[in-house]
Amino acid sequence: MPETQRPGRGAAAGLSPVNTLESRLDYPFGETLPEPGRKLEVAPGVYWIRKPLPFALNHINLWLLRDRFQDREGWTAIDCGIASDETRALWTSVIAEELEGLPIVRVLCTHTHPDHLGNAAWLTERFDAPLWMTLGEYAMGRILQSGLAGTDGPGIVAHFVAHGLRDPSHSDKLRERTNYFSRLVPSMPLSYRRIADQEWIPVGAYRWQVITGFGHSPEHASLYSPEIQVLISGDMLLPRISTNVSVHAMEPEANPVQQFLDSIDRFRGLPDTTLVLPSHGRPFRHLLERITQLHDHHAARLDEVLELCRSPSSAADVVPIMFRRELDTHQLFFAFGEALAHLHALWFRGLLERRRDGDGVFRFRTV
Ligand SMILES: [Zn+2]
Repeated sequence: MPETQRPGRGAAAGLSPVNTLESRLDYPFGETLPEPGRKLEVAPGVYWIRKPLPFALNHINLWLLRDRFQDREGWTAIDCGIASDETRALWTSVIAEELEGLPIVRVLCTHTHPDHLGNAAWLTERFDAPLWMTLGEYAMGRILQSGLAGTDGPGIVAHFVAHGLRDPSHSDKLRERTNYFSRLVPSMPLSYRRIADQEWIPVGAYRWQVITGFGHSPEHASLYSPEIQVLISGDMLLPRISTNVSVHAMEPEANPVQQFLDSIDRFRGLPDTTLVLPSHGRPFRHLLERITQLHDHHAARLDEVLELCRSPSSAADVVPIMFRRELDTHQLFFAFGEALAHLHALWFRGLLERRRDGDGVFRFRTV
């Protein structure tokens, strides 16, 4: 799922306060990107492919790991891209040209967002390969895919109205935002292999350990291989933009900012020389610097929100403080969730109190 976009450096640039810190990271491949439909080796047996996304965030990185799984020589695919014709055409050329005539023997999705999961059914059916995921991500995917969540369209509008959304043009557009997930993920494998935190997964010549993370999605799986010092971080550690952390209608009392910050601290035990393979942006080193940057980024956001809440403020009041530009409906959805997430982080820390006013709107103010 796209990450939060902020004003500043152009459409796909992401968060301006963080961008200025980008130079403190090391990008071992420089500006080199894999050609469309081609793979690029980034570590022994680990290959990078890129797929387009029809959002301001215009690409996702996927990874191919050379594998021998259940007596089949082939490849483990990490994440799949959305289920678009364009992405599938690129997959078709990767399959024809880049897999050395071998099959995909396993698909592992870091989390359930459509840009990661979209083609899981298409790939696993084509190759008779299993899908590996955490329970939290697989189950949430099935719920969203089936349309049972009840948090599309009207459900979103009710959630946002309770947090101060007034503009009828926005609520009309949000109400139309139905079947968003199932359009990008038209089907899901009906069974899966569960993976869990700290589990070791042998892939080809190397072992990868699952490191789960929270706040961005229900039970995100990152993978770390100590033998080659590579972290497939998924959306939990991105070099340029900050990962979206939202309070969604299905879990309106969530505290995802805190969950996210606690989760990225779990990477602090890894060597700083680790090559980080993020789902968006370029592979980088210096994860400790990046973790500190992300903490600083959220601390600054939280300070702004706390200051605003000297007078009672709703999430709708916070959105223009955190996102100082015109937002389309897609961006508003994430901006609103993120604004509420920052209010909740302060509320859970006991720095804000929450009250539901006579107009039905939740407002927060400093204690
Ligand atoms: Zn995501």
